[in-house]
Amino acid sequence: APLVALRGVAKRYDSGTLAVQGIDLDIAAGDFLALLGPSGCGKSTLLRMIARLSATTGGSIDWPGGRPQARDIGFVFQEPTLMPWATALANVALPLELAGLPKREAAARAADSLARVELRGFEAAYPRALSGGMRMRVSIARALVTKPRLLLMDEPFAALDEITRFRLNNDLLTLWEAERFTVVFVTHSVFESVYLARRIAVMAPRPGRIHAELAVDAPYPRG
Ligand code: ADP
Ligand code: ADP
Repeated sequence: APLVALRGVAKRYDSGTLAVQGIDLDIAAGDFLALLGPSGCGKSTLLRMIARLSATTGGSIDWPGGRPQARDIGFVFQEPTLMPWATALANVALPLELAGLPKREAAARAADSLARVELRGFEAAYPRALSGGMRMRVSIARALVTKPRLLLMDEPFAALDEITRFRLNNDLLTLWEAERFTVVFVTHSVFESVYLARRIAVMAPRPGRIHAELAVDAPYPRG
């Protein structure tokens, strides 16, 4: 069974906009799925519904392995939503503390998560002292620290310069190859979807639908 199964999913906003329609999609455990499409085709809408941040207005989103809790879903936005008054370590530890873990253990796991995104040594840094790429790494560490069943990334690297973006793509891929968590990665970049994903769902607007699904059998040669 898939980790998440979408059947006939639709979203009509109160404004009347039909953002997505007739979405049938299985998300397999361990997959790296790209949702590829131009601005406005409903990618973010779909991701927010999967994350249960937004309700569907049609169809169903099922988790055959059981209803997810908040910590089962990691979310990475384009703008790292870090707390400016807290260190990198405290930002990453927060979801664990909210889940009831003792502070000491939360800090130890947060440090480990920062190390996974190449931020060893930056535990005590505040977000304003970090570059955009490093803040994004902190966001990824925070999203992964609870060992979520699903990592959702909404155009995470779109605001970064090309070299930083390329490095982050490589490091994300290395991490995924080592740990095989499940990822849905929203992007309007053909390059990114081909380079990162093992499966690509192509969306088009008016109304937002999936028009093609392709498997990437062999990984693209690494840059
Ligand atoms: P992106 O395409 O990068 O996801 P958008 O500009 O589409 O960003 O949306 C940014 C935010 O504005 C989102 O939270 C989205 O829900 C909201 N938004 C987008 N379009 C509308 C709209 N027509 N009416 C109200 N809110 C909107
Ligand atoms: P994408 O992420 O592919 O850019 P979105 O999911 O942000 O697409 O938007 C899909 C459509 O839904 C767009 O027409 C957008 O303007 C509209 N939309 C997004 N969020 C809202 C909202 N909160 N209220 C009304 N319309 C919205």
